[in-house]
Formats: sequence, structure tokens, C-alpha cells
Amino acid sequence: TEGLLAYCRPGFEPELAAELGERAAAAGFHGYARAERNTGYVQFLGVEDGAALSRALPWSTLIFARQKLRLFADLPDMDPKDRIAPIMDALGGRGRHGEVWVEHPDSDEGKQLAGLARALGNALRPALRQRGLVTDKDDPRLPRLHVLMLAGNHALLGSADPKDASPWPLGVPRLRAHADAPSRSALKLEEALMCLLTDKEREEFLKPGMNAADLGAAPGGWSWVLARRHIRVAAIDNGPLAQSALDTGVIEHIRADGFRWQPPKPLDWMVCDMVESPAKVADRMATWFREGWCKRAIFNLKLPMKKRWDETRDCLQHFVDHAGRPLTLRAKQLYHDREEITVYAG
Ligand code: SAM
Repeated sequence: TEGLLAYCRPGFEPELAAELGERAAAAGFHGYARAERNTGYVQFLGVEDGAALSRALPWSTLIFARQKLRLFADLPDMDPKDRIAPIMDALGGRGRHGEVWVEHPDSDEGKQLAGLARALGNALRPALRQRGLVTDKDDPRLPRLHVLMLAGNHALLGSADPKDASPWPLGVPRLRAHADAPSRSALKLEEALMCLLTDKEREEFLKPGMNAADLGAAPGGWSWVLARRHIRVAAIDNGPLAQSALDTGVIEHIRADGFRWQPPKPLDWMVCDMVESPAKVADRMATWFREGWCKRAIFNLKLPMKKRWDETRDCLQHFVDHAGRPLTLRAKQLYHDREEITVYAG
């Protein structure tokens, strides 16, 4: 078994498979995706040089992948009385790992394996350490071993390059809802800032006193996230804002159409969570950059029911082609994104 193993939101396996297939082919790799709907993961198999393919598809550039691993073993028939021995056998000759995570897919079926995954992790870790297959202390410079439990007797083994993989178990960042937040959507922007920007960029790009516009702002979750960082926000929406948003004192509510409103002077940021066709949103976002109305933006593209990968690719291409200048572009389906993806441009 040589290939890639990637995790995704259950239901988005066809999108992830299409993305991996197209990206691999464009980079000159043969291979095929194996995906089953609602399982929460996709395998990309039939690859001659898994390491080279993995380098060609960095995790941060994959939109529908929550996690990306190099797949090296499929253990479909483990004895529930001893799952450790076959894992050790499969590890033979692969060198040392710096950490071991036992996980399960984020699917309804997979979640039932959470207890087993935890127990197996607790038993496996010391066994692997004793054999010298995993370092005594976690070492992020070495590959991280991932054991993905698919059933009580079935696991996939993969390894992550910590510099080219999600740093969170299951590829899901841990974020807690804030009691004062005007809406649960606030978490979406928090997650976007955490996942789409580096620590250094967050510090540099989000400074007190900066100014922003929030298109489709009501009830004000995203505006509130920016306001908490002391950024002044023009909140554009015909709907009402929550009192907690207004109480920040730095959010100005403007009742207007988010597709027509333009800022009186250039802004540091524009964020947009309007529920509209992704093509229409992508086109409006491009106008903002072309006109120089903002330096950076974070926006959501709501995906239609069908052809979601094609729509994603085409909308991002349209945005890039019409933005009027070269931009850094990062897009992810975040944990809090249901039928949508989140894009950073700047
Ligand atoms: N990000 C918000 C938050 O964190 O609370 C939630 C935004 S909600 C998903 C979408 C909003 O977009 C709705 O309040 C809706 O009124 C607004 N909207 C949709 N079309 C709009 C338009 N053309 N102009 C302004 N707002 C629009």
C-alpha cells in the first residue's frame, strides 16, 4: 500500500476525491481515489512514489482535506485480542516516529470507535516506545504515526510530516464558543483566522485600530470577532445586529446591500458571509480587490448541492482572474463550514 490518506467532512468524499485526482494528474502522477460517501476519509492509491505525490499536494493547499497522511498499511483483519502486534509488524523498517495518534473518522459510524481509539492509543504508545519505534518524548521533527480505526478489526496506518499536516487530532481544531458572541458563526471566523493565517500573520495583519467591512454581518458574530481585536467594523446588513455586537462600541451598523455598498476609503479588511450563489460572491470579492477597496479578505463560498468541486475550482479561478493583482489565496472547508468553504485572500 502506497498512497495518501486524507480526512474530510462526512459527505464531502466525492469532492475530496475529485480534488486529489485533479491535483495529482496536474502534477503528473498516476493513481486513483477510493472514496465512499459519508465515511469521512479518502484514499489515493496506485501511486509509485507516495513521498513525491505528498510533496506535490501540501496539506495547506488542499481545500477539502482536514488532514493529509502518507498511507503505508491497511490492516483489515486484526485480531481484537491483539491489535498491537500487527501494527508493530507493519511498522517494521519504517524508522522512528515522534508521536502516535489513534483516531477514528468523523462519521456517525466512526464516532462510535472513539473509546476504542483512546484505549488502543494508551496501550500502543508505551509498547511502541519500548521497542524504540516511537520516541520517549514527543518529537515534532520526526514523522507522526496515525492509526485510523475503521472498525474494531480494521485500521489504516499513515504517517504525517508535522510541517505538512494538520496539528489537530482528526484534523479538527478545538475552539470554544464564547458566551457573549452574537452568533455561533463567530466560531467560523475564529477558526478561519486560526487555520488560514500563521501566528506571525495574525499578529501583523490584525492590529488594533485597523478598519474592516463585514458584508452580510447580522447578527454580528464576525464583526464581533474583529471588534474584540479592536478593529473598527462597518457592518453591512439590512437585518438587525445583536446588542453584544453594538456594545463593543467599534461596530457601525449600515443598512445597505452588501453587493452594492463600497467603502468611502480603502480598508485593511473585508469579510463576507452573505448567503448567495458562490459565483456571484466570488465576482464581487474580485471587484473589491480590483478596485483596491481592501488589502485582505476572508469570505465564504456557499456550495450548491451538485458539482461542488467543479463549482469551487471555477469560482476560485474566476476570483483570481478578476482580482486585478497577484494574491495569496488559501481556501479550506473548515470544521465549522457545513455546505461551504472559507477563503483567505491578500
Ligand atoms: N457572519 C454573520 C455572523 O457571524 O453573525 C452571519 C451572517 S448570515 C449567515 C448571512 C447574512 O447575510 C444575513 O444576515 C443576511 O441578511 C445577509 N445578506 C444576504 N444577502 C445580503 C445582501 N445582498 N446585502 C447585505 N446582507 C445580505
